[in-house]
Amino acid sequence: MANEENTLDTLLTEDRAFPPPPEFARAALVSDPGIYAAADADPEAFWAGWAGRLHWFKPWDRVLDWQPPFARWFGGGTLNAAYNCLDRHLDGPRRTKRALAWEGEPGDRREYTYEQLHAEVSRAASALKGMGVARGDRVAIYLPMVPEAAVAMLACARIGAAHSVVFGGFSAESLRDRIRDAQAKVLITADGGYRRGGVVALKRAADEALEEEGGCPGIEHVLVVRRHGPDGEVLGGARMKQGRDRWWHDCVAGAEAECPAEEMEAEDLLYILYTSGTTGKPKGIMHTTGGYMTQVLATTQLVFDLKDDDVYWCTADVGWVTGHSYIVYGPLAAGATVVMYEGAPDAPDRGRMWKIVEDYRVTIFYTAPTAIRAFMKWGVDWPAKHDLSSLRLLGTVGEPINPEAWIWYHKHIGHERCPIVDTWWQTETGAIMITPLPGVTETVPGSATRAFPGIRADILTLEGRRIEVGGGFLALRRPWPSMLRGIWGDEERFRETYWSKWAGKTVGEGDDAQPGESVYFPGDGAKRDERGNFWVIGRIDDVLNVAGHRIGTMEVESALVDHPAVAEAAVVGKAHELKGQAVAAFVTLKEGQEPTDALKKELSDHVVRKIGAIARPDDILFAGDLPKTRSGKIMRRLLKDIAEGRALGDTTTLADPGVVARLKGDYESREG
Ligand code: ATP
Ligand code: MG
Repeated sequence: MANEENTLDTLLTEDRAFPPPPEFARAALVSDPGIYAAADADPEAFWAGWAGRLHWFKPWDRVLDWQPPFARWFGGGTLNAAYNCLDRHLDGPRRTKRALAWEGEPGDRREYTYEQLHAEVSRAASALKGMGVARGDRVAIYLPMVPEAAVAMLACARIGAAHSVVFGGFSAESLRDRIRDAQAKVLITADGGYRRGGVVALKRAADEALEEEGGCPGIEHVLVVRRHGPDGEVLGGARMKQGRDRWWHDCVAGAEAECPAEEMEAEDLLYILYTSGTTGKPKGIMHTTGGYMTQVLATTQLVFDLKDDDVYWCTADVGWVTGHSYIVYGPLAAGATVVMYEGAPDAPDRGRMWKIVEDYRVTIFYTAPTAIRAFMKWGVDWPAKHDLSSLRLLGTVGEPINPEAWIWYHKHIGHERCPIVDTWWQTETGAIMITPLPGVTETVPGSATRAFPGIRADILTLEGRRIEVGGGFLALRRPWPSMLRGIWGDEERFRETYWSKWAGKTVGEGDDAQPGESVYFPGDGAKRDERGNFWVIGRIDDVLNVAGHRIGTMEVESALVDHPAVAEAAVVGKAHELKGQAVAAFVTLKEGQEPTDALKKELSDHVVRKIGAIARPDDILFAGDLPKTRSGKIMRRLLKDIAEGRALGDTTTLADPGVVARLKGDYESREG
C-alpha cells in the first residue's frame, strides 16, 4: 500500500534487547525509572533542581519564560561557565584531582589538575584582556586537539567573550567565512597540529584566511600556540606578523594569574558554533550560559553515570558540539577526569584508541558510528591486543548506528559487559535529548530509545498528527534549557528552519492537541516502535520515495551492513520512471573482501530478505570510501548528485573532496 499520508514507512525490525546489567544498575546514579514521570509532571522543577547544582552569583527569578520561539531560562540569575568548570572545584579534594589528561599523536603527554587548569585559564583570560578582548566580544578558535583548545574556550567564558571554535581540519576559506560571520576580534590558532604522522599547517591556513580575498578586517590580534616548530620558526613558511601576532607561551605564561570570573547573565551568549554542514550551508548556532550549563551537567552526570573516580574519554574534536558539551563544559562542570587525544585513530597503528584506553584505564568511552564502522572494517584483532577491562560504559553520537555496528561495539569493545548509550542530539539542542539512562533503560541496537527526563519528543505527520507507533517527523514539543537561542545574524532562517513546520497547525491528538503550539523541527525522520523506543532513520532531506513508500536511509543501510562482507553503506534515491525513485547503494567492504558481481547480487538479495522487496537496491557500487563531512557523517546529497548524473553540489564541508570525485568517475565509467 502506498503511503498516502506524510509519514515514513518502517521496514527494519530488531528483536535483540539488552537490559541494564544488574551489577551496573545496582551502582548506577539512576536506578529508579520514576525519574521520567517525576520530570514529566514538572519539567521546570526538574531543571531547576539541576541548575541548583551549579554555582550562581545571584539566583534566578524565573525558571522559564517562553515566548516562542524564544526561551529565557533562569532569567535574572547570574553565573559564569568557567567558574562552574573550575573555581567551584577548588575548595575540596578535587583541587588536586586530574582534570585533563592529554596525549599528543606523537605520544607526548600533559596533565592538569583542577588547580593547574584554573591557573592556566586565568592567565589566558588575562592575556585576552590584554589584547583588548572585552565582555560581549567574539573570539575565533582554530586549534588542533591540544589542551590550549579547552583552555582558550574557558578563558573566553571567564571574561564573558563568546567563542566560535572552527574545527582545525577546515580550510582557510571556511575559517574566513566563519570569522567574518561572527565578527571575531581575536583569533587563537597554532603553528600546526599532528594528524596521521603528518603536520597540519594551521598558521599558514590562518594567514591565508586573514590576508587573502579581502581577509578578515575585524581581527586585531592572533594568539599562536607553538605545537610544532622550534622558537622563531613557524611552520610552512608562515611568519609571525609584527603587531598582530603573538605567541601563546610569551603572552600567557607572563600574564596575571588572578582574573576574576565575569558575572554573566543566564542568557548571555556563551558561544557560537557552526553546524557540520551535512545538508548545506552551516548555521551559526547560538548558545547561552545558564540553561546550557544546566543541561550539559545533568546529561553528563546521568547519561554517562559519571562518578568521581571515572576516567572519561570522548573522542570528538572540540571543533564540534560534542567536544563543547562533552569534553569541556559538561565533564568539567561535573568535576571529571577528562582524557583528550590529539590525533588519528590509526597512528601509528590501528590499535591506538585501545592502547589509550588501556594506558589511562578509561572507564567511559564516547565515540561516533563512523569510527566504530572503521574499527569494524579493520578487524577484531586490534582491540583484542589491549586490556579493555577498565571500561564500564560506552556511548555513541553523530549518526544513526547500524545495529550490526552496535553489536560489534558491544562484543568487541564492551565485552558484553558495558551498557551502550546511543545519544541523539544536535548542535542546535546543545545537549543530549534522546538516550538511554544506563541503569534503567533496556537498550536496543540502532535505537536511541527514549527522551531524556524533562524532554518531550514525538513523531508527527506533516499535518501534525501524533504517531504512537510508526514513522514520521521527529518533533520536540517543549522548550529545553540548552536549546539554541537563534542563528547568529539570521533570525528569519532560525524561524524558518526550526519553527515553521507545524506553525499554525493543531499538534498532537485528543487531549494532547494544542492549537498553535510551537513545535521544534530537528530535520530528522524517525519512528517509534511498540516498546516506545525512538529510532532516528535519516534526515528528512535524504528520505527515499520508492513507489509511494517513504523510506529512511538508515534501514536500508543497516540491512546492507548486516551482511558479513560489508563495513559501511550509504543509500540514496535516484530518479526512476516508474517507481519515482530507485534505490542506489554505495557499499564499502571489510578488509579482505572481493568486490564481485556475485556479491552484488547476494547483497541485493540480503536487503530483500531483511526488510522486503520494496527496498531492493537497483544499483550497487563498491566504493573504497564514502564522502563524509569533516565530523565523519555520510553526505548523501552528493551521492544523489552522482547517481542522478548531476554536477556536484557544495563540497566545502567534505573531509576529502577526492573521495567524491573518484566515486563520480567510477560511477560514470561503469554506466558509460
Ligand atoms: P547541518 O545541520 O549543517 O546539515 P549536521 O546536522 O550534520 O549539519 P550536527 O549538529 O553536528 O550537524 O549533527 C546533528 C545531526 O546528527 C542530527 O540532527 C542527526 O541527523 C544526527 N545524529 C546525531 N546523533 C544521532 C544519533 N544518536 N542517532 C541518529 N542520528 C544522530
Ligand atoms: Mg543539522
